[in-house]
Amino acid sequence: MAERSAIDLHAHSSASDGALSPRDLVDFATGRGLKVLALTDHDCLDGIAEASAAAAGRLQLVPGIELSTMWRNFQIHVVGLFIDCQNPKLLAHLKKQRIKREERAHQIAQMLERCGFEQAYERTKAQAQPGACLTRGNYARFIASTGVCRSSDEAFNKYLKRGRPAYVKTQWGCIEEGVEVILAADGIPVLAHPRRYQMTNTKLRELIALFKSAGGTALEVASAQQRPADRQYLADLCQRFDLLASVGSDFHAAGTWRDPGLNLILPDKCQSLWQSERYADKFYVHEQRMSMVYADKDNAARQMI
Ligand code: AMP
Ligand code: MN
Ligand code: MN
Ligand code: MN
Repeated sequence: MAERSAIDLHAHSSASDGALSPRDLVDFATGRGLKVLALTDHDCLDGIAEASAAAAGRLQLVPGIELSTMWRNFQIHVVGLFIDCQNPKLLAHLKKQRIKREERAHQIAQMLERCGFEQAYERTKAQAQPGACLTRGNYARFIASTGVCRSSDEAFNKYLKRGRPAYVKTQWGCIEEGVEVILAADGIPVLAHPRRYQMTNTKLRELIALFKSAGGTALEVASAQQRPADRQYLADLCQRFDLLASVGSDFHAAGTWRDPGLNLILPDKCQSLWQSERYADKFYVHEQRMSMVYADKDNAARQMI
């Protein structure tokens, strides 16, 4: 038995490393009862127009992004919500990110070819939307699709993560730059999945202090496949650093525990973005704003699965 939230502020489409097209993602999330969904592809906005068109009259599609940044050798992801997709500073930044991703995608493919995967770049590209912004997630799915590994997870662990034969390091920009670019585009900067960076609590607190001082607004407190103690710890950190709380499944493909809205209920002590004085106005669902706002508190949109 699991609970479902009507709000999910972190999901991917085939414009980056999601398995579903932007339109299919919106259909899928609507079928799961979602009222608000953020599309946050990696360093790329290409899916937003199609997703927004598909969402019209069905759910609120929040235009978003997941920016890759670096801090002390950790790859840190900063989600930007409600971004202005036309903002020149954001677009210039994404152009740089795209070049880095494209170069790295070719390097990863070369290394995979040495491991026996022929035409790895072309075949991986063919599985995503034309012009997609490739990540290691795309390669993981490609490897799994060849049957060499049973799952993307296994492919990632065997070939793509640090220390494995097709790992390629990338020098992303600093977190401060990522936050600045999101703020410049009128977006809300959210530190994505803070417990997934495999760092000590001391380091995590340093990271959050830096994020906050750079202008960061929220922590992604509730994510899928998370231990209850981790969710509580992140809720405590929100209070300690005076940050708001966000929720995100980080959905990539059907058939996993990272499913839109699944198990994303926030601890009561958190103040969510959609209940905050500053941002509540941005969230709406067909005139039924209050029912959406309380959906995760009142059981109204909870479903048993
Ligand atoms: P990149 O930004 O290119 O380094 O790729 C990061 C992406 O790889 C993440 O967003 C995930 O989609 C994917 N990824 C990370 N860890 C795993 C894993 N254990 N199994 C499958 N995919 C993963
Ligand atoms: Mn991904
Ligand atoms: Mn991420
Ligand atoms: Mn993500």
